Amino acid sequence: MRIALIGNPNAGKTSLFNELTGSHQTVGNWPGVTVEHKEGVVKDHQDIQVVDLPGIYSLSPYSPEELVARDYLVHHSPDCVVNIVDGSNLERNLFLTLQLLDMHLPMVVAVNMADIMEKRGIHLDVDRLSYLLGVPVVLISAMKANGLEAMIQLCRKAGQKSVTPDNIEYDKRLESAISEVIQLMHRTMTPTAMDRWQAIQLLEADHQVKQDLATLTTEDHLEIEEIRLMTESLFHDDIVDVIAGERYALIDQMLSFALQSEAQSHRLGQKIDRVVTNRWLAFPIFALIMWGVYYLAIQTVGTWGSDWINNQLVGTYIPQLMTKRMNAIHVLPWVQDLINNGIVAGVGAVLGFLPQILILFLCLNILEDCGYMARVAFVMDRLFRKIGLSGKSFIPILIATGCGVPGVMSTRTIESKAERRSTIMLATFMPCSAKTTVIALIAGAFFPTKSWVAPVVYFISLATIVLSGLILKKSQYFQRDRSVFMMELPNYHWPYMKNVIRQTGNRCISFVKKAGTIIFASSVVLWLLSHFNWMLQLTDENHSILASIGKLLSFIFIPLGFGHWQATVSVLAGFSAKENIVNTLGILYHTPVSSDTGVELFTTLRAHYTMASAFSLLTFNVLCTPCFAAIGAMRRELGNIKQTLSTIAFQCGMAYVMTFIVYQCVLFFTTGHFGWGMIGSMVAVVALVYLVMRRPKVQMEEV
Ligand code: GDP
Ligand code: MG
Repeated sequence: MRIALIGNPNAGKTSLFNELTGSHQTVGNWPGVTVEHKEGVVKDHQDIQVVDLPGIYSLSPYSPEELVARDYLVHHSPDCVVNIVDGSNLERNLFLTLQLLDMHLPMVVAVNMADIMEKRGIHLDVDRLSYLLGVPVVLISAMKANGLEAMIQLCRKAGQKSVTPDNIEYDKRLESAISEVIQLMHRTMTPTAMDRWQAIQLLEADHQVKQDLATLTTEDHLEIEEIRLMTESLFHDDIVDVIAGERYALIDQMLSFALQSEAQSHRLGQKIDRVVTNRWLAFPIFALIMWGVYYLAIQTVGTWGSDWINNQLVGTYIPQLMTKRMNAIHVLPWVQDLINNGIVAGVGAVLGFLPQILILFLCLNILEDCGYMARVAFVMDRLFRKIGLSGKSFIPILIATGCGVPGVMSTRTIESKAERRSTIMLATFMPCSAKTTVIALIAGAFFPTKSWVAPVVYFISLATIVLSGLILKKSQYFQRDRSVFMMELPNYHWPYMKNVIRQTGNRCISFVKKAGTIIFASSVVLWLLSHFNWMLQLTDENHSILASIGKLLSFIFIPLGFGHWQATVSVLAGFSAKENIVNTLGILYHTPVSSDTGVELFTTLRAHYTMASAFSLLTFNVLCTPCFAAIGAMRRELGNIKQTLSTIAFQCGMAYVMTFIVYQCVLFFTTGHFGWGMIGSMVAVVALVYLVMRRPKVQMEEV
């Protein structure tokens, strides 16, 4: 007979396989070590073949592992399925078990890691669990080779029956939807044991199953779609969430009946969880913790380091040293200026962020390693699913309010490709700390007594994120792997400092690398463009290449109210670093910016811009594509130029449309004049509403 081992990654399949067959496969500790299934013969039972399937969390066809494992179960019908379950993590592991039960294959549940359960004081009543699931359950330890013989005997017995009994029942409303689909299937197909599972997958719009069931017609699929919509409206929720919710509810009930007591440390963890994931407390606690992190990174320790780099190292020592050396060997004055004011200042400005980033990542890595971040993602998940993201997207967006570079880099923890990409596209809509210099400038010059300016800008940013999320959710590309959020809530433990330091170090090193490449190059280019004219003669900013480009492009911004070439150049200069916007405006209007607050500049700006156009300039700069450093990070995380360019286009487009609407509305409410601009912005609003509301295209392609 043939038995197939299936279970979550790290449940112990490979260990069990090695123990049973006596072979020595590598035992890895990460998902994906066993990508293809391996076969062997059981040592003491030569008539039994074992297959080690890849580790998976669910039977949805999203990853190659899931496809391989599921294909094997559907098409090779093993005599018995052994579902290996990690006994120290029952709740998550049983999710797959319930899916397998719907397949009605002969099955034995082997609860592994009995030794760890004993150490932790987890007492599982095997008989009760077996009664609830309707299949034999056995406690084993693959590592200690305990309980394996009993498991084999149960497999032999289970293998004699052809199906498992039907013990699982979800909510009545869901059950009736499932049986409707089954009836519909039976019109053209003979009943099989897989019916229930296939019906559920059809409800979830699983295209692989759709393809497998070739006898179903287009009308049948439309009918199924109707049943799905009906069920979704009954539950007020997405069908995937409804089914996952039902499964977890069932697991909860089962465990409360079958688990007798829990370990001390585990219980402490649960107590902490009850507080930190509490519906009302979760957010304030999280806000407090993040405020602490920001206090350390941006306001105190990190800033001391940054100030030292900016004022002492890059501001004084290095330029002095360089000037002395360059004077000694008679370097041309303009080359000196390029080196000091272009390269050293540009690269230095970016390196100045290093201490802040170091502290930020150190704190975040500690929070992540001890298990807190998983809870945050868990809490935010509900909220973010509404805009097509998951809880994991929250952290990058939050970090991006400090700086887009680490924000984009931190998307790396998101496994789903589509979700990672849309998070990258949305995160930098949040105003980063450099963009706050622009907020300070415009608010100071035009709205000195109005404290609402900054909050309103943040609100516009949030609205843009939500809108963009909703728009992207409808596009075919981003619908792709709408995965069930199944994050493991790991047990709390003290952070392993070695891990934390290694991870923080890696992130800092890649940050420095970026400063040395992309920032270096863009600093040189910008300096050259703003100091030379087309005849390649040194000139002042007003006649530079940059100025002529600004004059050429300024018409683009006329509908936004700031079609001045100076404003256009400042937008362009903002690409190298958003702080540049303030400096550039100062230089171009011949008003020295004495300090970051730019008091001198206030009066000049008021002479050139109206309140509406100034607010428009601010909005556009806040929303528009981030600086080169962040674009570099985006390019690295997205992995190719094409996606990076389309991301930039999307961000600029959204920024333009949002700013246009904001500007025209402000204009209308301040002047009362109703003209073409207002009509245009109403058209833009209608277009946005359409993009948000349109029906998503049904996707038929394969993964
Ligand atoms: P797979 O991903 O399902 O193939 O899991 P592995 O066989 O690679 O096991 C994952 C980890 O769990 C390894 O470090 C094993 O040593 C460990 N492990 C497996 N079974 C047991 C067990 O019964 N007790 C303990 N303590 N550890 C185990
Ligand atoms: Mg394995």
